Amino acid sequence: MTTTKETRAFQTEVKQLLDLMIHSLYSNKEIFLRELISNASDAADKLRFEATTDDALFEGDSDLHVYINIDKDNRTITIRDNGIGMSRDEVIEHIGTIARSGTKEFFGRLSGDQEQDAHLIGQFGVGFYSAFLVADKVTLTTRRAGLEHEHGVRWQSAGDGEYEIETVEKQGRGTEITLHLREEADEFLDSWRLKSIIHKYADHIPFPIRMLGTPLPAAEGEEEKPAEVETVNQASALWTRSKSDLSDEEYNNFYKHIGHDFEDPLAHLHQRLEGKYEYTLLLYLPKRAPFDLWQAEAKHGVKLYVRRVFIMEATEDLLPRYLRFVRGVMDTNDLPLNVSREILQQSPAMDAMKKGATKRVLALLEEMAEKASATSEADETADTEKNTDFADFWAEFGNCLKEGIIEDAGNRERIAKLLRFATTTTDEQSVSLGDYCARMLEGQETIYYITAESLAAAKHSPHLEVFRKKGIEVILLHDRIDEWLTSHLTEFDGKKLQSIAKGELDLSGIGENAEQEQKEHEEKARAAEPAVKKISEALGDKVKEVRISDRLTESPACLVSDQFDMSSNMERILKQAGQNIPDMKPILEINPDHELVMRMAKMRSKEKIADYASILFDQAVLAEGALPEDPAGFVRKINALLTQQ
Ligand code: ADP
Ligand code: MG
Repeated sequence: MTTTKETRAFQTEVKQLLDLMIHSLYSNKEIFLRELISNASDAADKLRFEATTDDALFEGDSDLHVYINIDKDNRTITIRDNGIGMSRDEVIEHIGTIARSGTKEFFGRLSGDQEQDAHLIGQFGVGFYSAFLVADKVTLTTRRAGLEHEHGVRWQSAGDGEYEIETVEKQGRGTEITLHLREEADEFLDSWRLKSIIHKYADHIPFPIRMLGTPLPAAEGEEEKPAEVETVNQASALWTRSKSDLSDEEYNNFYKHIGHDFEDPLAHLHQRLEGKYEYTLLLYLPKRAPFDLWQAEAKHGVKLYVRRVFIMEATEDLLPRYLRFVRGVMDTNDLPLNVSREILQQSPAMDAMKKGATKRVLALLEEMAEKASATSEADETADTEKNTDFADFWAEFGNCLKEGIIEDAGNRERIAKLLRFATTTTDEQSVSLGDYCARMLEGQETIYYITAESLAAAKHSPHLEVFRKKGIEVILLHDRIDEWLTSHLTEFDGKKLQSIAKGELDLSGIGENAEQEQKEHEEKARAAEPAVKKISEALGDKVKEVRISDRLTESPACLVSDQFDMSSNMERILKQAGQNIPDMKPILEINPDHELVMRMAKMRSKEKIADYASILFDQAVLAEGALPEDPAGFVRKINALLTQQ
């Protein structure tokens, strides 16, 4: 055992963090208390969980609490818990280093808005250092539950780049943090001030936070009565209280605590479910996506409790990955406390909770979507304000929900109804598949979509020409995930979804003049046959086929993929991701109505035909938002044409 005093340097990042924190949060110092109480509460949670399999850890004291003491003479505040504590190695690991990888990102995300940044500190797991907002010296004494008294640890630092650590004797288990206040932090020596901060941030912490009350003034001739210890916070698990007892403010404050968010949530659901399994859900939808939503190791924000004992942060066993933005708590009586997490994760109760919670979240979203459409319908007649909650949700998390189509086949239909798209009638992602179907033209049986690299590329694609002409709505898809989405969502409400850039298109029978149009088209197609032949010979095996198009009204040509081939957009995405995929040969479709095509039908010179065919092909590539194989060659040929007399 080493009792020697050691001086160690902080990790460089910690030093940077401390400097930054002190400079950026000086007017929001009070959050130090929230962070230290939150750590004490985590420590109590951990002890209670470990003690479920090893009762001796309680050392005969199971009254878990936090005690806060003010010493005006020495200008210190002490925050003491009897939670799990730390060993010497744990102190070195947790206090003085930043474990999580996102430090750089953290620095990048600091906004200068103090309230916002204060919450980032919680999100990034660097809350302890907020002690230095108010203290110029911090002393932490701790002993891990289960270790002998002589294995206590004292850690001390002035926040100037290094800390001292030594092994000491400590009677009670847990952690005691003494803050030697800076002069400008005097306000926190006032117990009223501290109590009001505790109410603000820690009412819902399920452990009592105790402080010395104000001593009663002595009556004449009597001795002053010593002040009594009182519990400052509500100290009950918020989700166990009944809905009618809880105010929006209480719900919101709890969310801010567990979600490490500075904004109120967008919506919440609080339900007690009874049936084969009994459990309580308190789940929130945030207003904004957390920083790591699109990172592979994105944190899940739902906590599992069993009989109010914290068990673990949720994983995919508790809520599917596509709902990883949900924050909150699930608590059940139907899981054993004293088994391993692995066994818990395989239990049927857990499975039932996951299914139940997923359903409730989807129901909440359905309710929000309904409210939005009810108010938008009312819009025209009354002056009700439009409810934008669902639109706001969709803007932040819509792409996550799309993953659900792929991940959660069981709920595919429900999720499909919640999807919102931009279409040829609106740039806003606001059209549901239901809306689309309701607007389908007479004779239309298919839901049409196009995928492209961006909304602009989708909107201006030549593939849309005939749809515009006939007034058929087309869904515009331009998110990466859409290619996967459409490969899993092939039908909605009995109607097929079809890419307008794939396979043969049969729009005959849709619209009013369908028959007449079809006849005219066939005639023109016959006239263009010679052009097809010439272009096909000129392009050789650059294309799979050259054929007359049904899609074009303005452009001379476009590229299409075979019905079961990968779309060119998908091909591009995979290539960008460095995947080795064989080149797909596209089909070149030409517009028999176009002047250029008509001219080509009459051309004789092989050389000229070759140049025209190559330009036609490269144009079609450009219109897809891609680059021709030989851009310089393309430019040369165009210029030759432009300068021809
Ligand atoms: P976070 O709480 O997000 O992990 P903090 O900077 O607040 O980040 O705390 C860092 C770590 O220090 C905690 O994860 C925990 O392991 C340890 N720690 C801090 N305070 C305590 C405490 N009162 N009791 C036990 N461990 C603590
Ligand atoms: Mg913390």
